[in-house]
Amino acid sequence: MNFHFTEDQLAVRGMARDFAEKEISPGVAGREETHEYPEALVAKMGELGLLGMIVPAEYGGSGVDALSYVLAIQEVARVDASVAVIMSVTNSVACYPIWKFGSEEQKTTVLAELASGQCIGAYALTEPQSGSDAGNQKTRAERTAGGYVLNGVKAWITNAGVARWYVVMAMTDPAAGTRGITSFLVREDDRGLSVGRNESKMGLHGSRTSALFLENVEIPESRRLGAEGEGFRIAMTTLDHSRIGIAAQAVGIARAAYEESVRHASTRETFGKKIREHQAIAFQIADMRVQIEAAELLTWRAAATSQVTDRRFSKESSMAKVFASEMCNAVCARAVQIFGGYGYSREYSVERYYRDARVTTIYEGTSEIQRMVIAKNVLAQA
Ligand SMILES: Cc1cc2nc3c(=O)[nH]c(=O)nc-3n(C[C@H](O)[C@H](O)[C@H](O)COP(=O)(O)OP(=O)(O)OC[C@H]3O[C@@H](n4cnc5c(N)ncnc54)[C@H](O)[C@@H]3O)c2cc1C
Repeated sequence: MNFHFTEDQLAVRGMARDFAEKEISPGVAGREETHEYPEALVAKMGELGLLGMIVPAEYGGSGVDALSYVLAIQEVARVDASVAVIMSVTNSVACYPIWKFGSEEQKTTVLAELASGQCIGAYALTEPQSGSDAGNQKTRAERTAGGYVLNGVKAWITNAGVARWYVVMAMTDPAAGTRGITSFLVREDDRGLSVGRNESKMGLHGSRTSALFLENVEIPESRRLGAEGEGFRIAMTTLDHSRIGIAAQAVGIARAAYEESVRHASTRETFGKKIREHQAIAFQIADMRVQIEAAELLTWRAAATSQVTDRRFSKESSMAKVFASEMCNAVCARAVQIFGGYGYSREYSVERYYRDARVTTIYEGTSEIQRMVIAKNVLAQA
């Protein structure tokens, strides 16, 4: 066990922090109000190699380790959680499954476009009737002479309408249940693909989230990702990886809320002293710091485990995700409390952190689903 970062990891973290503070931060408050998609920042992330971080250089990626990726997400989320989710989705649920399960042709074409930052990606598993119950897929993919035709509706798709490539799960053999699900690569300009309105969300205003409609979308067989029937395993293995990114996002948001709280507690005075001198506030700050560092360690462990193992790392990933996301909600709520009335004002960023935090216990599997994954894993060994 080694608690020291390598020079490379520190360099990636430093680069991401620099980019976040100098380039993402200046427009964050404005984007929050206008719900503007940060197109120029996403293009810059591509140039900096932040969109295909752990993908090997031969496929256009940056080839860094999973811990470096997590550190970069933390830094971006500390400044803007919306930009962090755009980044995490492209890295984790678009690039990762193509890298792990794609054909050599898919890696040298689709993956290379995504990982080199020429475009961004999306992942379409959820449907109107199935989020947690992800095996209940109604989207159908039927064989044609040269490939497949896809029909169905996907819901809540991050990056929909701005992504070039979609990893789409669809049922090829309904009688086979989850073993009848297959993954496909759908391109933004495939005929029959359309995108719904941008959802009006509580937070993450800079990121796009929409339904996806597939109406007789014909794709060649070369766009099937993995084998027929392998789609559910691909989807779940992908979530093992991506949940670590959401844990990192949660740690980043919480870190920002903590830093703002310390700043405010060091200037705001009541009863003749700084509020940090009231033990009730000082203890809250102490607890926030403990919680953040504990979540950080679980997140880093999950990243390190993902790097060195051939086996699934669902347990480590779900532990990091459930703990970090619930911690993030608790820390952001405390931050609003420490700010008093000002915490309830849109003038102060803790109000945004509080709203952005909320989704981290919901997407990429709710806290309840994480607990089901953890219980299944630990009870299997008991
Ligand atoms: C902003 C945002 C972005 C998203 N981006 C994407 C994306 O890019 N791609 C994608 O595919 N999806 C995406 N999602 C969808 C997200 O993953 C789902 O919303 C999530 O998995 C929950 O599914 P659901 O909304 O259908 O809730 P439901 O599954 O209906 O769950 C409702 C409640 O019941 C609980 N519950 C359900 N089943 C059980 C059970 N067996 N035991 C105990 N409790 C249970 C849940 O934990 C939850 O509290 C996104 C969602 C949001 C809000």
